[in-house]
Amino acid sequence: MGRSLSNSVINLGIRDQYADALKELGFEYEVLAEQEGDAALGNGGLARLSACQMDSLATMDYPAWGYGLRYQYGLFRQVILDGYQHEHPDYWLNFGNPWEIERVHVTYPVKFYGTVEDENFNGGKRKVWLPGEMVEAVAYDNPIPGHGTRNTITLRLWAAKPSDQIDMESYNTGDYINAVVNRQRAETISSVLYPDDRSYQGKELRLKQQYFFVSASLQDIIRRFKDSHSNFDDFPEKVALQLNDTHPSLAIAEVMRVLVDEEHLDWKRAWGIVCKIFSFTTHTVLPEGLEKVPVDLLESLLPRHLQIIYDINFDYIEELKKKIGLDYDRLSRMSIVEDGAVKSIRMANLAIVCSHTVNGVSRVHSELLKTRVFKDFYELWPHKFDYKTNGVTQRRWIVVSNPSLSALISKWLGTEAWIRDVDLLAGLQEQAANVDLHEEWRMVRKLNKMRLAEYIEAMSGIKVSVSAMFDVQIKRIHEYKRQLLNILGIIHRYDCIKNMEKSDRTKVVPRVCIIGGKAAPGYEIAKKIIKLCNAVAEKINNDPDVGDLLKLVFIPDYNVSVAELVIPGADLSQHISTAGHEASGTGNMKFLMNGCLLLATEDGSTVEIIEEIGEDNMFLFGAKMHEVPALRVKGPALKVPLQFASVVRMVRDGYFGFQDYFESLCDKLEGGNDFYLLGYDFQSYLEAQAAADKAFVDQEKWTRMSILSTAGSGRFSSDRTIEEYAEKTWGIEPCKCPF
Ligand SMILES: *Cc1c(COP(=O)(O)O)cnc(C)c1O
Repeated sequence: MGRSLSNSVINLGIRDQYADALKELGFEYEVLAEQEGDAALGNGGLARLSACQMDSLATMDYPAWGYGLRYQYGLFRQVILDGYQHEHPDYWLNFGNPWEIERVHVTYPVKFYGTVEDENFNGGKRKVWLPGEMVEAVAYDNPIPGHGTRNTITLRLWAAKPSDQIDMESYNTGDYINAVVNRQRAETISSVLYPDDRSYQGKELRLKQQYFFVSASLQDIIRRFKDSHSNFDDFPEKVALQLNDTHPSLAIAEVMRVLVDEEHLDWKRAWGIVCKIFSFTTHTVLPEGLEKVPVDLLESLLPRHLQIIYDINFDYIEELKKKIGLDYDRLSRMSIVEDGAVKSIRMANLAIVCSHTVNGVSRVHSELLKTRVFKDFYELWPHKFDYKTNGVTQRRWIVVSNPSLSALISKWLGTEAWIRDVDLLAGLQEQAANVDLHEEWRMVRKLNKMRLAEYIEAMSGIKVSVSAMFDVQIKRIHEYKRQLLNILGIIHRYDCIKNMEKSDRTKVVPRVCIIGGKAAPGYEIAKKIIKLCNAVAEKINNDPDVGDLLKLVFIPDYNVSVAELVIPGADLSQHISTAGHEASGTGNMKFLMNGCLLLATEDGSTVEIIEEIGEDNMFLFGAKMHEVPALRVKGPALKVPLQFASVVRMVRDGYFGFQDYFESLCDKLEGGNDFYLLGYDFQSYLEAQAAADKAFVDQEKWTRMSILSTAGSGRFSSDRTIEEYAEKTWGIEPCKCPF
């Protein structure tokens, strides 16, 4: 979620009054707002997407709730020591969280482990789950005020507490101390966020967190429904549940369990309800990335849920046989249960089978889903598949983070209405050549660059020149996102400057390269990329030959607040994933809105950005999505430019030190191991960089491109994304606050 205060006073329309009131108390608003720590309750793009969508839901008066976990420790704080990443705990709750409202009366028991027994019931049998452990979920509400409306919605986060029901047996056996200590263990369920982005390990605590979240949220939803209904006939009419990836997909089995075991609906009727309430957003591009839960783990933690999943699978496979015949290869691919060395449950298959809609997060992502990842399912149920291109909220990403640009836009459009109706930004297109606008636009951009330069100096001691091009890549560190390509490009630039005649150096366009992002703690290669970045920075920044022509800065602890500061100050931003690997990307949209030019591959939502602003207004390069598979097959035979071999050689030879440590990084780039095609794309990457340099020298051209970027960003508002969900998937309408 990032910070709450700055966003809330803007959405409530009280920023100026609030700042005045603070002044009377002797405080500066800007200084105060900076004191707030981020709520870092997610890993990256996937979670930030939900945060943007909450803002849009509130602003557009949709009746909606967000649910999540109130982790004691959010995403780790990244500390860089000697260029290496260290993970420190994020103590965000230590001094209290003033924005949350603890609902001591909104608590639900959540059960785990135990056994399932048959019980006689109405002449037949039914299943009863006798759990072995119980914890309490306590609700903490975080208000999300909409902009320009009195509507405020709730993000309800669950914290785990020991259950009120004490285990009398342990007390009676006299083991008082252990009984208390065991109770305390309950709190570990919501204690820490798993820091892995896009990879899943079958870990018991993680599964426990998922079920804890699902069980508490569903009890809350069902309780609210039952307050005004005496049976479940209208449930699908009143409730729509959107699964953000597979993480909450146990909810499907849980709804079945509650309806059948606790509400005593028959199986068929319960199944009919389940099929109408769930829809599923998937963020993966690779089948290997899909979440699988080992059956053994599920059986011990949630024995009844495993039975239910088996029963769902049995019925589904029987139906499937009628439709596709006895094609056992296909049946086994499509089964919810995977038989293998480790028998496991494929959470995505469960989600697809039970959801009425499966959507990708950009158009090309959806194509990948239909033709590769979920091809079998698409052929069976083409009507289920759809896409909703991600979006970001212009309230946080322009109005809050870039107040000067916001004021400038309102002045030139003659209205603030774009804050709620972002398509109005297109009105800037007519002014894209206006010299007065150009001058003001450059002023604003310079102001933001100065703010960023101050931050960089305060943080790292590095002085950067604001007349240089600020070239930014901030996002989670992943091989597919190719921060390494960026760093190798910087090494190449450095090498060129070093080998130039002194007189030629005046022709170099000065650059400040900024890289930031966290690596998952167990992701060795990603951590080496961070170290390489810092080692190269050390060399370049201390080379008097280079001076202001090139600087490299690694910004530590990338999070939402850092993004709010860095994005408005960027001239150029890089979104350079190997084509076919980024499902959507949302960072690109934030930069676009702020008038930053994109240097990018044709991947994910960038493809749609190209359609909006035209390829002339950005710097594109690299292999296209359809070319990638054939290029990979070539392996060591793939032609790679000499410059690439020579920059890799510099790293290998220890030019930046740490020769042994970087060896495995270099091995990943050569000898047919270059899976992400850095070598193949290097030449066209350098050409795109050269085109950016050329455009930057022509400030009038650059400013026009910048204005057209902001003007063309309307389609990438989460307001549009949410409208599509509301109309196409949930069937809901705005519900205006009556007072
Ligand atoms: C927007 C955002 C992301 C996602 O960035 P991508 O460039 O789409 O990977 C990740 N982390 C934070 C803090 C963000 O604000």
